[in-house]
Amino acid sequence: MLSIRAKLSLLYLIITASVIVAFSLGLYFYLSRALLKVIDDSLFSQANRMANALVQLPLTDEVFPQSNELRLPVQFYTIIDRAGEVYDQALDAHGHPVPIISDALDRAHDQWQAQLDNGSITETEPVRIITWPVRDQDGVFFVVAGQSLKEIQQAQRQLLLLLAISTPLALILASLGGLWIADRALKPVDRITKAAERIGRGNFNERVEEPRTKDEIGRLAATFNEMIAKLNQAFQREREFTAYASHELKTPLAIIRGDIEVALRRERSTEEYRRVLSSSLEEIERLTRLTEDLLTLARTDAGERMLELAPVSLNQLAEEAHAYIKPLADSTGVQFSYELPQPPVVIEGDEKRLKQLFVNLLDNAIKYTPAGGDVRLKLASHDSSAIIEVADTGRGIPADAMPHIFERFYRHADPRDTRASGFGLGLAISKWIVDAHGGSIEVESNEGRGSRFTVKLPCARTAKD
Ligand code: ADP
Repeated sequence: MLSIRAKLSLLYLIITASVIVAFSLGLYFYLSRALLKVIDDSLFSQANRMANALVQLPLTDEVFPQSNELRLPVQFYTIIDRAGEVYDQALDAHGHPVPIISDALDRAHDQWQAQLDNGSITETEPVRIITWPVRDQDGVFFVVAGQSLKEIQQAQRQLLLLLAISTPLALILASLGGLWIADRALKPVDRITKAAERIGRGNFNERVEEPRTKDEIGRLAATFNEMIAKLNQAFQREREFTAYASHELKTPLAIIRGDIEVALRRERSTEEYRRVLSSSLEEIERLTRLTEDLLTLARTDAGERMLELAPVSLNQLAEEAHAYIKPLADSTGVQFSYELPQPPVVIEGDEKRLKQLFVNLLDNAIKYTPAGGDVRLKLASHDSSAIIEVADTGRGIPADAMPHIFERFYRHADPRDTRASGFGLGLAISKWIVDAHGGSIEVESNEGRGSRFTVKLPCARTAKD
């Protein structure tokens, strides 16, 4: 398998080679055509002048004795009639006459138009030939003039030689340049790979050096570092979560175990056994709640889709939550009232989870409100959102605790306040439920004066729809 560096260099080489070859071929053909055109144009104008002069001159054996006067640059020519009789002729420097192409004579006569053809004097000397038809009172004859193509051939050969030498040279330079560019471009990737290897070995504090430029590599390094920071956070949370969870599980188990061990040390009365059993039952209930909460959070972490969506009447859930929480409010001397809108607010949601949300918020409100205080649940709908408001006149949340209350295991409670027992998971779970329904949860609080939690959930439709 080729490395990216090799692939890039190879690709660069192929593209450069194609461009150079295409350019060389283009140059070669363009130059050849241009040179030939120069010769053709000169032949054409000379033959034209000769033909014009011929019409005026008597057709003697030497038509152009004064060819100097005409200043003919053509190397050699022949004046010939259709029968092949030569009237005048000039030979080239080596004594060769211009080659006569009989087919060209026919074409020139039939089309009455000058013909340009290629011929050759010797095997190595090609020649360009013009055949020009002329008519005067003596009949039809032809000016056949020629010009050697040797010089053009030489120029072409030199160009080919130049291209043959310069193309491989340019390709060698291009490959070296390609390798250098690929090397430079991929060096930072190499560094990132090495850092990733070190991080892979468990060193989550390692970071990739970020180049100052915000180019693709800079962004890759920044994204990579962000990802590692998030992974690091996630691992840390995981560790904390496990540590907290095992601690929370250990405490009630230790209490149950202690109570039972003490009870078993000697014979007890039925009353004493009953007390131990009911205290154990309380702890077991606590444990059950905790395990359920942990399970919920573990499943949300695993990304398990836990919502069973169906139209849910929030009015009905609020009433059920009220019935469930009311005894707790009564036993703690907290006033609990609720206000529901008509028609009922209906949303697309998971009934069980939404009920858990109501219970969590109300349970907290009552837990953190002293006897004589008020807890109020209000439901409303506004701009296609359902709004759940839970307000209390309790102890409120201190400003420094506010940013943390939705974190897992975060608690801010007086340890002497036995009513305010909990695991610090209620609001984390509530936030997850709200997020999973596409809603938002906000809190306002005044320390010593009370708190208000406002949940907004997207409305599906109202019951009357
Ligand atoms: P828990 O209630 O088990 O401690 P939560 O996640 O439900 O855990 O709440 C986290 C913290 O937020 C609580 O310890 C408490 O300090 C604060 N809190 C939540 N609701 C209220 C409220 N209604 N009034 C005052 N403080 C609250």
